[in-house]
Amino acid sequence: MKLLEIAGLETFYGASQALFGVDLDVAEGEVVALMGRNGMGKTTTIRSILAMTPARAGKVRLGGREIQAMRPHRIARLGIGLVPEGRRCFPNLTVAENLLAAAARSGRWNLGEINRLFPRLEERRDQMARTLSGGEQQMLAIGRALMTNPRLLILDEATEGLAPVIRNDIWAVIRVLKAEGQSILIVDKTLSELLPSADRCVVLEKGATVWSGRPDELTPSLQDRYLGV
Ligand code: ATP
Repeated sequence: MKLLEIAGLETFYGASQALFGVDLDVAEGEVVALMGRNGMGKTTTIRSILAMTPARAGKVRLGGREIQAMRPHRIARLGIGLVPEGRRCFPNLTVAENLLAAAARSGRWNLGEINRLFPRLEERRDQMARTLSGGEQQMLAIGRALMTNPRLLILDEATEGLAPVIRNDIWAVIRVLKAEGQSILIVDKTLSELLPSADRCVVLEKGATVWSGRPDELTPSLQDRYLGV
């Protein structure tokens, strides 16, 4: 079954059009990589799914239900957990407080389970979020999104700007979530990690979907055409 269905999405920033027709599906349990060069519309697509920048045309369905006219908090409550670019947490709350503040919907994830997934967060549970390293803040951002027990987890630039050892930890967690059947929409520039983690890829160019297929179908020449600099 399709969990997320997006068709013909068009989004503007004021008078300037950023999306010109994005089509994208995520099935239950599927990991979909949203790809494209800088400025092609990946973050805007994510903002439109959550109505943070509402689309002016097109449809977004979650579990068959149209959500594009809803307010962002309502969409989040229906089961979309976002790990935003720049991993925003509450800087002056502790790690544990940040996690508990995000809790919503009962399900697999609670404080104990997040601590099992990220032992580093448990070690730092009483530390203010602002004192964490970038990698730990990203773990906290993922933990916060999971605490909502999302039907769909969205990660925008999952590992950008992180030290290699932390990146590996984050990819390992993404593999664990995938193995558990978590539906994921993910943006990341590290193709060597992204492609093996994804079931399907969707490529954007100038605000529109131009290609989608399995990772093994995204040949070096297609990568060069759509993702090369
Ligand atoms: P990146 O990898 O650089 O984050 P992206 O694929 O996520 O790129 P978007 O950030 O969605 O791309 O940008 C799509 C287009 O919308 C770009 O032309 C960008 O300049 C424009 N844009 C993005 N945010 C805004 C904004 N707040 N106001 C006006 N234009 C914007």
